[in-house]
Amino acid sequence: MSSASSPLLEGLQQKLHELDAQHLIRQRRIVSTPHAPSMTVDGRAMLAFCSNDYLGLAADPRIIEALQQGAAIYGAGSGASHLISGHSAAHAALEDKLAQFLSPFVPSVRALYFSTGYMANLALISALAGKDAEIFSEALNHASLIDGARLARAKLSVYPHRDLQALDEQLTQSRAKDKLVITDAVFSMDGDIAPLRELVALCERHGAWLLVDDAHGFGVIGDDGRGVLEHLALSSPQLIYMGTLGKAAGVAGAFVAAHETVIEWLVQRARGYIYTTAAPPAVAHALLTSIDIIGSEEGRQRRAHLKHLIARLRERLNLKHWQLLPSDTAIQPVIIADNAATIATGQALMAQGFWVGAIRPPTVPAGTARLRITLSAAHSTEQVDQLAAALLSIEATTR
Ligand SMILES: *Cc1c(COP(=O)(O)O)cnc(C)c1O
Repeated sequence: MSSASSPLLEGLQQKLHELDAQHLIRQRRIVSTPHAPSMTVDGRAMLAFCSNDYLGLAADPRIIEALQQGAAIYGAGSGASHLISGHSAAHAALEDKLAQFLSPFVPSVRALYFSTGYMANLALISALAGKDAEIFSEALNHASLIDGARLARAKLSVYPHRDLQALDEQLTQSRAKDKLVITDAVFSMDGDIAPLRELVALCERHGAWLLVDDAHGFGVIGDDGRGVLEHLALSSPQLIYMGTLGKAAGVAGAFVAAHETVIEWLVQRARGYIYTTAAPPAVAHALLTSIDIIGSEEGRQRRAHLKHLIARLRERLNLKHWQLLPSDTAIQPVIIADNAATIATGQALMAQGFWVGAIRPPTVPAGTARLRITLSAAHSTEQVDQLAAALLSIEATTR
């Protein structure tokens, strides 16, 4: 680092040194090939187990073609926000398709497309929870839900991970006029699924909205890929479903599916929807093909293969010192605990050609640094076996 020439820069440099001393400096690696299990990373061939491309659609030729076709029809940019002149036929078609796809689970459903999941959560939460509201947030929620709750001017209560009784007590004690419970469906760093049937019942009993963020479930779980709604057969007029489209769907963006009245309110009042340029129409056009694949027989086969890989990894990964968390989803975390040891393990894997995310605080609680292994339908059984063997051998040499 070059030396600071102003007290402001010195202050930041000091903070960066402190992060470095705690092994918390992060590095971006440069990928120069399409997104797939085998990619070129910083100029080296790697087998990746850190992507959220759960169905292997990010580089699918049919989706790439749809993206190109979308650009040919609509051009590169949307030109404006949705409420001015940026709302294209492709955005409208995507919203209709998503609403149709989820209609068995959300009464009078409409869908609203957002440029990113992060923004969707900020927009949603701040639009639904005003000054008279109270937000009840699960302790392990994704940063975007946490930031959405901070942006809203409502009272905020955090309930412990999966603790329905604590939430019930908080809801009982609340004097707020509007109540909003917010939770990840599949916890992004742990891979477990929230007790959503019980949460729906609790929210109905207390007259609270339930916002479910299914970033890691949409497309991946449920027989037809309709996420936790289908997996747990959830349905309620108080349910607000948020899914992302940059993970299993392989493209970009996110959507909210809810009762048409909720969606109309968001269109009128959600600042993160209103005050931003609409995503390129070509992206929405490409997503039409993604959703078709997710809902097809091929989508089913991809999910079945992914399920097989998850079982295979868990069967092979008999760790002695580290802890493989209980998880039935594509997210398979191995807790190593110590930050430096977690990074060293990630580097040892890289030296053998495996790219696995090493996750440290503040993304996860202090003392729970971990490898976050993610599986994709694009992996082969053999590749999963290779990763398990490499991890077991590294574990054996570090103790
Ligand atoms: C990835 C993720 C988001 C953010 O979605 P983006 O489209 O990547 O901005 C929101 N919530 C959860 C749980 C996520 O994992």
